[in-house]
Amino acid sequence: MEDILNLINGALVPAAGGTWIDDHEPATGRVYARIADSDERDVAASVKAAQDAFPTWLGMGREGRSQVLHRLAELIEQDLEAFARAESRDNGKPVHLARKVDIPRAVANFRFFASAILHEQSEAHLMDDVAVNYTDRSPIGVVGCISPWNLPLYLFTWKIAPALAAGNCVVAKPSEVTPMTAYRMAQLCAKAGMPPGTLNIVHGLGPKVGAAITEHPEIKAISFTGGTRTGQQIARTAAPMFKKLSLELGGKNPVVIFADCDFEEMLRTTVLSSFRNQGQICLCGSRILVERPLYERFRDAFVERVKALRVGDPADPGSDLGAVVSGPHMEKVLSYITLAREEGGTVLCGGERVRLAGDLADGWYIAPTVIEGLGPACRTNQEEIFGPVVTIAPFDTEEEALSVANGTPYGLASVLWTNDLKRAHRMAHRLESGIVWVNCWMVRDLRTPFGGMKQSGVGREGGVEALRFFTEAKNVCIKL
Ligand code: NDP
Repeated sequence: MEDILNLINGALVPAAGGTWIDDHEPATGRVYARIADSDERDVAASVKAAQDAFPTWLGMGREGRSQVLHRLAELIEQDLEAFARAESRDNGKPVHLARKVDIPRAVANFRFFASAILHEQSEAHLMDDVAVNYTDRSPIGVVGCISPWNLPLYLFTWKIAPALAAGNCVVAKPSEVTPMTAYRMAQLCAKAGMPPGTLNIVHGLGPKVGAAITEHPEIKAISFTGGTRTGQQIARTAAPMFKKLSLELGGKNPVVIFADCDFEEMLRTTVLSSFRNQGQICLCGSRILVERPLYERFRDAFVERVKALRVGDPADPGSDLGAVVSGPHMEKVLSYITLAREEGGTVLCGGERVRLAGDLADGWYIAPTVIEGLGPACRTNQEEIFGPVVTIAPFDTEEEALSVANGTPYGLASVLWTNDLKRAHRMAHRLESGIVWVNCWMVRDLRTPFGGMKQSGVGREGGVEALRFFTEAKNVCIKL
């Protein structure tokens, strides 16, 4: 059984306490590796290593840092197949998805920020003949990055790449549910030429390691992606310490479909936006609202497509859905399906655990589930389920669609299907979410601001926003 070790000061080491946590394989439900069960001592050692490394990393300049990050991207890419298999095994997602999306995106994250720092511009503000101002942006020093289990390496690198590129040293914690690919990446850092202590990866439980990162007085900024409740806890600790905070939290995303859309394209994409990665993408649409004249046609065609999806072995290229990430998560998702029935919903397809044969019999599989007949205010339509479960409902007017779409505490992403250009602009402007996709889903340009409104988060990541988050801006004003 493999041991997943911490990366502290350039060395791969067990936790100071010498204890371990089980790492499960969702496809079989079995333990297949053990994870360093770290605590505040490991975090303190990482912070010390990061502080010591900071002058060296900063001293390498943009060119030097860019080269290291490009090299790391190259090393991951050279090993893409092994990374994809590891991600699939650790998370339960189909290996073809990890091969096509997760790992290439992790590579792209490094490449993007390694290049971005070479093209960054600073501002200057001239005050006629009075003074000239320029903005001096410096790295913060030691920063903390905490990421979730749904897109493990993809989201881990989405944080550490800009943090490192901007010149910071990092103490990072992947989710203890899916730590394997961060560990594989840790094994490549020295080969990429990264000085020891620049990136430290501390594995372990959120309430222990995550909390220790949040509480450490020398960690001046926290970039967190995860659930809204965890985000609240982090904010409670970090805000009185005046740490910079970027919080990317949960969602309950609406998909609004008008009768004038391109039906076939909408249908194909809506199956993906509902069930890709077993519905465990914060950007998946979970509340599908359909203009009434199209409702029955959509419902029948959608349910037919969903019934044809194959839930199977994540290693099988023919599987559309693999396993959900853990036993407790499966139970949580199933409990929401029970709740939906209690609330009066009709399950049109799915609605239960799937038992596969042989070795996979104890794996955590759920049939993709479509529910109708629920009002917008019920818990099923208000709370994040984060699994392969969607509700569908008809609407009559644009106003009604907007009010239902905006009627949750969340505001991460929305999807809009219409060929009416004016309506698309009108709706996009009024939808309360950090992203509005019109006639598409998951099209991502890494230069754009990424984040949520309301309880979906605070702050934006991506492009220049991420580089700004990981730096302190100083106005230098010189009298002319
Ligand atoms: P959690 O909030 O449970 O965990 C996220 C990370 O925080 C994990 O590394 C976790 O560690 C850690 N953590 C847990 N408790 C604490 C704590 N008290 N202090 C500091 N860190 C802590 O989220 P999940 O991993 O369950 O991820 C799913 C959630 O993430 C969903 O709500 C989803 O919407 C959201 N998400 C948001 C995205 C966005 O961009 N807005 C993108 C992707 C997901 P551990 O796992 O070891 O407990």
